[in-house]
Order: sequence, then structure tokens, then C-alpha cells
Amino acid sequence: MSEQALNDAIDFDPDALRDRYREERDKRLRTDGNEQYVEIKGQYAHYLEDPYVEERIERDPLTDEVDVVVVGGGFGGLLAGARLREAGVKNLRMIEKGGEFGGTWYWNRYPGAACDIESYVYLPLLEETGFMPVEKYTRAPEILEHSKRIAKKYDLYNNAALQTEVEEVRWNESLQRWIIKTNRGDAMKAKFVIMSNGPLHRPKLPGIKGVESFKGHTFHTSRWDYAYTGGSPAGGLTKLKGKRVGIIGTGATAVQCVPHLAEGADELYVFQRTPSSIDVRNNRETDWDWAKSLEPGWHKHRMENFNILVSGGFASEDLVNDGWTEIIRNLLFIASQGDNKNLSPEKLAEIAELADFKKMEQVRSRVDEVIKDPEIAEALKPWYRQFCKRPCFHDEYLAAFNKPNVHLIDTNGQGVEKITETSIIANGQEYEVDCLIYATGFEVGTDYTRRSGYELYGRDGKSLTDTWSDGIQSLYGMNVRGFPNVFIMGGAQAGFTANYPHLLEEQSNHIAWVINEADKRQASTIEPSEEGQSAWVDRVLEKAVMRTKFLEECTPGYYNNEGKASERSGQNAPYGGGSVEYFEILDKWRNEGEMSGLELN
Ligand code: NDP
Repeated sequence: MSEQALNDAIDFDPDALRDRYREERDKRLRTDGNEQYVEIKGQYAHYLEDPYVEERIERDPLTDEVDVVVVGGGFGGLLAGARLREAGVKNLRMIEKGGEFGGTWYWNRYPGAACDIESYVYLPLLEETGFMPVEKYTRAPEILEHSKRIAKKYDLYNNAALQTEVEEVRWNESLQRWIIKTNRGDAMKAKFVIMSNGPLHRPKLPGIKGVESFKGHTFHTSRWDYAYTGGSPAGGLTKLKGKRVGIIGTGATAVQCVPHLAEGADELYVFQRTPSSIDVRNNRETDWDWAKSLEPGWHKHRMENFNILVSGGFASEDLVNDGWTEIIRNLLFIASQGDNKNLSPEKLAEIAELADFKKMEQVRSRVDEVIKDPEIAEALKPWYRQFCKRPCFHDEYLAAFNKPNVHLIDTNGQGVEKITETSIIANGQEYEVDCLIYATGFEVGTDYTRRSGYELYGRDGKSLTDTWSDGIQSLYGMNVRGFPNVFIMGGAQAGFTANYPHLLEEQSNHIAWVINEADKRQASTIEPSEEGQSAWVDRVLEKAVMRTKFLEECTPGYYNNEGKASERSGQNAPYGGGSVEYFEILDKWRNEGEMSGLELN
């Protein structure tokens, strides 16, 4: 690429942006990392109560035996259940804490809740269920309905244990079975256990001084209290009339509910530590002619196309063509301004950074276009690379700050100072509120078993927490030595993708294949070999380098362990080779059919 062509393609000062990004990150770096948050238990336990259950299910404790127990009724569990049914598994039990299937979408019903990954790639099993979402970006109620549709189609209600929380999973060597204990007094047995507890499952509170003392009404966004606010996920929070509401947090959740709070409350105070990047959403109705024209296999093809593009790969077409894939279009544009053949990885990284600057400049200029007050506009601008934090896409969030009843309380990266019985204190100022809403997200970097809410005891009674005390050990993120016949669905040591259900789809196919194969080969247990597991961990560590470097430069958040990298960060992270490569590894492994790295007994 000629320097001239490159200069023509960029209309910003990269050095100035680099400096600004660093300055904004440094301002937010803190030594306590994840410790800054309060674990929701004890005096805070009421924040976890399920406000959505209409009637408690009464049943006797279960002490029977099933072939497979699936913990978690969200997309991961539903996909695993569906693929196992397809593989002929009949004796299957889904265990779910909530009163329904749906997982994330069971809990997150806050006003405006919706998914901003395109619905045609986000929703699983569209071809299998014959369902087509009504809009390009689906809303939470439609997703919840789709979860129920999947459960019905694959007969997953049958034998399910809903409103049931697992408390312990323990291997019984003489029986060669897992014993699963729950809060319903169950002690059921299972040959296989699949755990799909959800990556953003356990809400967290900020460890702000005085957080326990607030006497007004309060709740976390994942347990929305419609009895207090009125309205529904579609909005209409009429009971907030006459009320002063404070919301802490400005992540993807707050972005979706703030416009509705702005509509309903008399006064709304939005406490911001770091602004989100808010790009165009442009939702629209599904083009039904297009939907009818789709050929079998379209869903997988579209998911793969999206995943390649958002993973920084190249594809000849961009089927989804939205704000997620735009960065790659910028990258291609910049790269095409000269000789783009045989670019070194360093040059490619440089171009990717420029494409990112270009994208974020556009996001920042949108703030200026929408916000009337220049001071507020400045405070709403994000200064970091697009994928340092979860990018957001919304067409009403920014405009809400033009309303006279909406007050942005920007804390210049420092967060809220203190909470009292009646108020929130930030920047030395006190804001009295009737209702305080925590949009402060979910635990990510804490121990797996703390997040799942139960311990797993494998061979010789050794716990998973102890086994992983020096970092995660696994084969492909799914199987762990010492824990025969257990499968973990999730992102650690697996391929990260912005379209999380895509990962769950690939993992569920893999798990169903392994269970089916173990059955065919009459194995009573499968478990990673010492060598198989350590080879995968070594590969994860080796590939962690590039991603670690990127994340170090980022402003703190849950993507980079709150800016506090630890020795375990690389090992506990997603596979650094990316999801495209990870899916290929799994696919190749199954095609080879040797089950290498696993011991079958
Ligand atoms: P996040 O973890 O993304 O956001 C938490 C927010 O709380 C951040 O803005 C954080 O600021 C702020 N915060 C934390 N502590 C303090 C403090 N002491 N004072 C002030 N602010 C504080 O949680 P969300 O629930 O918003 O989103 C979680 C994830 O869920 C998303 O990242 C996304 O993956 C998913 N999601 C997806 C949606 C979709 O459309 N598909 C919609 C909603 C959520 P800071 O940034 O400085 O840490």
C-alpha cells in the first residue's frame, strides 16, 4: 500500500487517537478488578428472587436415573437437548432454575430488551422449527417464545425439572454415575451431565460504599419489577409517573431500557462511568419474499458468513451487512487503497486499527449529530476500540438525553461514590431518588462454580474449583480430566464469537456426536487423557498472546477482566485462534473419528 493512498483513506490523526484512548483507559484502571463488585448473596440475596414465576411447581423429590442431565434451559441447554433428541437419546432431563425455558431471555425482560445481533443469525434452529422472526432484530418476548417452541418441538418439557436449582453434582465411582442434588431435595443419577449455565448468568452489584443502605425501591435489570414500574418489555412504565429514578450503568442493557425510563419517570438520573459505543440499529420488518426465497442450508451459511466477518476474516459477500460487519468493510476499503497482497500480520494489524479508528470516529460524530448540548455530547463519546466493550446499536438511546427530565451524571471514569438511604452521590453531588436500578451487569471473571452456583466433585471427591485453582484445564473447553462424562458449554478455552448461540450450536453438535459415539463404542466413561488435555491448554496459552495484547490496551470492562490481567487470564480466556478456527478444529476432530485426546473406558 502506498503511503499516499493510506493517507487519503483516513481523515483523522491516529497518534492523537492512540493517546486519547490510553489516557481514557488509564483513568479507569484500578487495582481491585473484579473485587470491586459485590457478590449477590446473604443480605443481597433478594436481588436474585424470580419475579416472573406465577405459580410454584410442587413435586416430590426425584431419585431416579436418566441417561443425560442438562443443567440450564437457555439456548445452550435447548440446543444440546435438541441435538441429543436427534441422536436418539430418549431418557433426558433438563434442569432449569427459572419457571420456563429461555435462560438469558427468561431473566432479561426489562423494557426495550431485544437482541442486536441480526435475528436471522442469532436465533437457533430456525430451519428445524420452520420459524422466521418478524424483524431484522428480534425483541425479548419473541426470543422467549422461540425458546418454548424449541423445547416443545424436541419434547424437552417431558421429564424436565423447572424451578429447580442444582446444588451439587458428585461422581459416584462404584455406580459410575453422577448424583445431582437440588434445592428440591432431588438426588437423581445420570450417566452424562451437560452444563450450560450461561456466560452472563449471575447478576452483580457495584461495591459502592453504602450500597446496602438504600431504603427506596431497588432491583437489578435482570429481575425487572413491573409491579413497581408498570408496563411491559414493550415499554409504557406508567407507574413511574411522579417518581425520580436513578440507574447505574450504561452498558448494552441500560442502552435499551433508558429510553423507556426517560418516557415514564418524572426525573431520570443516568450514572455513567464509561459511555457505550452507540451505532445505528435500523430495525425493520422481515422481507417475506426474501424469507420465502431462502434455500435449505441458508441458516448455517448466514451464521458462518457473519461469524467470519466479525472475527476479522474475509468473505466474498456480507449477508448481514450491518454495524457489526461494517468495521470489516472499512478494513477492506483501507486495504484496497493500494497493494494489499501479501500483507504482513503487523501491517494487517495496523490497517485493522485504522479501520477501527474510522468506525469509532463515525460513532462519535453520530453523538454530535443527535445531542443538542455539546457538553453532554462530549461526555457520551466512547474513546476505545470498538470491540474493547460490547458495541451497542440503538436509535433512541442518545436522543433520550435531549429530554429535560433526563440527566446524564458522567463520573469521568470514576463511578458512583456512595449510596445513602435516599440518594446516590457522584462527583460530590447528591441525587435523591425513589427508585435505584442496577444495570451493572453480570459476573464474568469469577470462578466457574461461583457463577454456576453449585460445585462439581469428580473422581476422588476433588472439586472443579480446586482442579482449576491454577487456571482452567480442559479439552476444547468442554471436557475435564477427573470429571468423566461431563460437558461444559461456554466460552472459556473455546471459540469466542459475537454471535454466542453460534458457539452453543457448534458445541451441542459436538457433544451429541461424542455421546452417541461413546454409546456406539460401548464406553461407560469418556474423559480427556493427560496428554490430550495439556496439549489443548498449551495451544490456548500459545494463542492467547495476540488477544491479550489487544485487551491490555482496552478500557476496563468484563472483556479484559476489568483491566486487571492475571496469570490466569490467558488460560481462562476464549481460544485466541478465534471461533472460526475453533469450529474447524472440532469439525476435523469428529471427521477423523479417532476421538483423540479422550480416553474411553
Ligand atoms: P455490562 O457489564 O456491559 O455493563 C455494566 C455497566 O455498569 C457498565 O456501564 C459499567 O461501567 C457500569 N458500572 C459498574 N460499576 C459501576 C460503578 N461503580 N459506577 C457506575 N457505573 C458502574 O452489563 P449489561 O447488563 O449492560 O450487559 C451485559 C452483556 O449482556 C452485554 O455486554 C451483552 O453481551 C449482553 N447484552 C446483549 C444485548 C443484545 O442486544 N444482544 C442487550 C443487553 C445486554 P464501566 O463500563 O465503566 O465498567
